[in-house]
Order: sequence, then structure tokens, then C-alpha cells
Amino acid sequence: MNDAIKQLIELQQIDHQRGDIASRIKGLEAQKEQLRHRAKQERSIVDKLQKHLKELQHTSRMMNLEVDKLDDQIRDYQDQLDTGIISFKEMEALRTKISNQRTRISEMEDEALHLMDEIEETTVRHAQEVEKLAVREADLDSEIAKIDDHIAQLQREQSEWEAKRERLVAALPRHVVQQYDHLHAKFDDPVVPIENGTCSGCKLTVSGTTVERARDGMEIVTCENCSRILYAR
Ligand SMILES: [Zn+2]
Repeated sequence: MNDAIKQLIELQQIDHQRGDIASRIKGLEAQKEQLRHRAKQERSIVDKLQKHLKELQHTSRMMNLEVDKLDDQIRDYQDQLDTGIISFKEMEALRTKISNQRTRISEMEDEALHLMDEIEETTVRHAQEVEKLAVREADLDSEIAKIDDHIAQLQREQSEWEAKRERLVAALPRHVVQQYDHLHAKFDDPVVPIENGTCSGCKLTVSGTTVERARDGMEIVTCENCSRILYAR
């Protein structure tokens, strides 16, 4: 077999390895991206819970302020009742106001108690979720680190193949490499054997002359149909 053909077959094998490694790296990158996405989602659930807790605490504070305000108003109305010189009608109106405010305060105090319970529950749940998240994040981080190691190892292998390829390319005539690269841009298998008189790339019959020339191994022979480089087994 022609030396150049042997080298081209080797070049094709190297390119298959390179393609395989590249697609494995791509798969690992995608896996990493998925893990990162999952970590982000899990964190956002905990963040939402924390936001909810802060809102509850804020509502609770506002409610206490409102109760204080109502208390102050009642004291004010009471002062007016005790010391003010006001008409009977005005006194009745103040008493109704005081009674309404007291009812409102009592309602709000009930609400405030419920709210305190909810805050307590949410605080406990949030703390549990934060703890769980820390464990999950540590797991995800170590999974990502493992993938990174794997990628780094594949990249080292890849540079070894690149170096082999460069050495091989340097040994081949420039126009042969160009012909190969041109075909490789179209086909995964630019160099194929002739099998039973057909090109094993495109599966079409090649001429008897082509078969003979390939068998002679004096030159680089190509398929009349697909232009792949042919060799006889
Ligand atoms: Zn062909």
C-alpha cells in the first residue's frame, strides 16, 4: 500500500479520536451546565422562602405599629372624655369610637398571633432548607469538580492527538493534506476501502481502472462519485 495512503488512514483514525474526545467534552460541559442550573434552582427556592419570611416579619411589625396607634387614639379619646368639656352627643360618639377601636385591636391581636405562629414555622422550615441546600450544594460542587477533572484529562489526551496529527501532517505532501481536509469537511470518513468493487463510503460501484490503480498503490485514487480517497484492502 502507498505510504501516503497508510498515513492518511492513520490521520483519519486520529481525527476520529479527536472527534470522539471533542463530543465527550461537549457532553460533559452540558452535564456541568445542567448541574449548575439545578444548583441555581435549588438556591432560588430557599431564597423565595427567605423573602416570604421577611414579608411576614414586615407585616407583623406593621400590625404591631397599627395596634400601638389604635391604643394611642383610644387614650386620646379617653382623655377627651375625662377632661374635655364636650356635649353628650360628642361623648357618645367618642365611646362608640373607643369600642370600635377595641374590637379592631382584639381582631388584630388574633391576626398577629396567627402571624407569629406562621413566622415561627417558616423560620424553622427556612433553617432546615438552608441546611439541606448547603449539603446539596456541596454535593453538586463535588460532582462538578469531578466533571472538571474528567474534562481536563480529555483535554490532555486531545493535545496528545493534536501533536500526533501535526507530526503526521508534516510528513505528508501539502496538497494531499489539503485534499484530505477538504473531504473531511464533508465526510467523517474521507479515506475508505474498496469493497467488492464499490466505494464503501458512497456504496456506488467504481470503475475497474480505479480498482486496479488503487491496487497498484502508485498514486492516490479517488471515487468517481463522491471523491473520497480509495484504497484496496
Ligand atoms: Zn464514493
